[in-house]
Amino acid sequence: MTKYIFVTGGVASSLGKGILAASLGNLLQARGFRVTNQKLDPYINVDPGTLNPYEHGECFVTVDGHEADLDLGHYERFLNIQTHKSNNITTGRIYQNVIEKERRGDYLGKTVQIIPHITDEIKRNIMAFGQSGEFDFVITEIGGTVGDIESLPYIEAVRQIKWEYGHDCLCIHLTYVPYLNAAKELKTKPTQHSVQELQKAGVQPDIIILRTEHHVSDELKRKVALFCNVDQHAVIQSEDASSIYRVPLNMQEEHLDEVVLEKTGFDLSKVKKADMTDWNAFLQKLESATAPVRIALVGKYVQLQDAYKSIQESLTHAAAYSDHKLILTSILSDDITSDNIASLLEGQQGIVVAPGFGNRGVEGKFIALKYARENNIPCLGICMGMQAMVIEFARNVLGYKDANSMEFDERTKHNVIDMMDDQKTMINKGASMRLGAYPCRLKQGTKAAEIYQSGLIAERHRHRYEFNHKYQAEFEAAGMCCSGTNPDSGLVEIIELKNHPWYIGTQFHPEYSSTVLNPHPLFISFVKAAIDFVGTHC
Ligand code: GLN
Repeated sequence: MTKYIFVTGGVASSLGKGILAASLGNLLQARGFRVTNQKLDPYINVDPGTLNPYEHGECFVTVDGHEADLDLGHYERFLNIQTHKSNNITTGRIYQNVIEKERRGDYLGKTVQIIPHITDEIKRNIMAFGQSGEFDFVITEIGGTVGDIESLPYIEAVRQIKWEYGHDCLCIHLTYVPYLNAAKELKTKPTQHSVQELQKAGVQPDIIILRTEHHVSDELKRKVALFCNVDQHAVIQSEDASSIYRVPLNMQEEHLDEVVLEKTGFDLSKVKKADMTDWNAFLQKLESATAPVRIALVGKYVQLQDAYKSIQESLTHAAAYSDHKLILTSILSDDITSDNIASLLEGQQGIVVAPGFGNRGVEGKFIALKYARENNIPCLGICMGMQAMVIEFARNVLGYKDANSMEFDERTKHNVIDMMDDQKTMINKGASMRLGAYPCRLKQGTKAAEIYQSGLIAERHRHRYEFNHKYQAEFEAAGMCCSGTNPDSGLVEIIELKNHPWYIGTQFHPEYSSTVLNPHPLFISFVKAAIDFVGTHC
């Protein structure tokens, strides 16, 4: 029987529900269970693809081409699994499904209501994981904060599932315990109120996790247990951690996995202990590395720390495995000029040019790329970053001064980045983006083939525009090699410079598939090149 664990949040947002849910998944998986994590988002967008990264952080992309919440990135990195469209549901999607069913006449003349129709659709999307027979545990994180109007149907679905499944279902409530400096005291009242809010909706939490910046005493835990009607050993604290990757171990020390197993009816003496050897080895490397590797991230959303989450984490994995400490400097591409680029990049050993849509800040990317190309600084261009590499090369090496992407300038004579004809047909059919994993064949003898140690790979895409084939021969003759192409369509997926220590652009997003136990080879190779870089500009 599949066990359903729900993670709700109270008191404040941004407490790290996603990291906590991923950490619990990690611990249960390390005990030999088959686990998946799911995120339910209470907003009305059908998916987060249309959300500005400033609003909601990075948009993560699953292998099956779903634009998803960034928490799915945490799930993949922590559990070393691939998630799919079904791992992220929004209110918009729930309503869309219900309305489609209503239009088809599936409800046989009934009045369609939040209860039972919306709640049933929510439950169907949760229980489908259990029915697949693939999982022992399904951990479902409910976005938002208890008490929000938007999350009420989700909480009602949790109430019903708890009522129907008894001990096969648990609710973990994550709250915040503020420290009042003037009183020198941790305060539990907000926790009590948020638990009351859950109880009013008919849900009694089974486990309470207190996020805190100070150690919570046993006495305080007892108080929370008493007032919130939970077992004392089911009140767990989650103190601020030096790294998100330490949270699973902190939760193990607090016996979170044991309490979950005990409450879902397992005999602890019959379940193997969590084997965290590999995880610990990574953490050891991450925490003991002192030699710095300085990487600059050039992008247009750098002010928000979550906008390039997967890139930051991929670089963190690669630096740790290379026994170096990542020092990441974000540079807003809008601020870059030919005059300040040398000082902005001073001391940097590697440059990542970020993905992006629209032309804001793109000229700054060209300047940074020219500088990296001419000064032999290792450089990785991702998606729009790769397109910018192509345009910069066309302008400054091939001599096409008006070279551009069709995305930024439809009238240019030299669209080196274009929308392909088959892409235009796809758009006419309603599909506006190349999304999800596509195969890519690597050319023998190139850096890409050497890095991947493979002839055929699959990587995730999220873009509309493509390298323009018409110019391929010219680029290759001038030293920019197309080292990866789609075996079916021939679309160019990777470009690299021959006469440069490390200058690679990928039309796809390698950052979506780097995990703690399986760091991405491109990032490993890039960071190694950065470590080896001794530039004259340093
Ligand atoms: N703007 C580019 C395109 O749509 C790249 C998008 C991205 O970087 N994700 O093709």
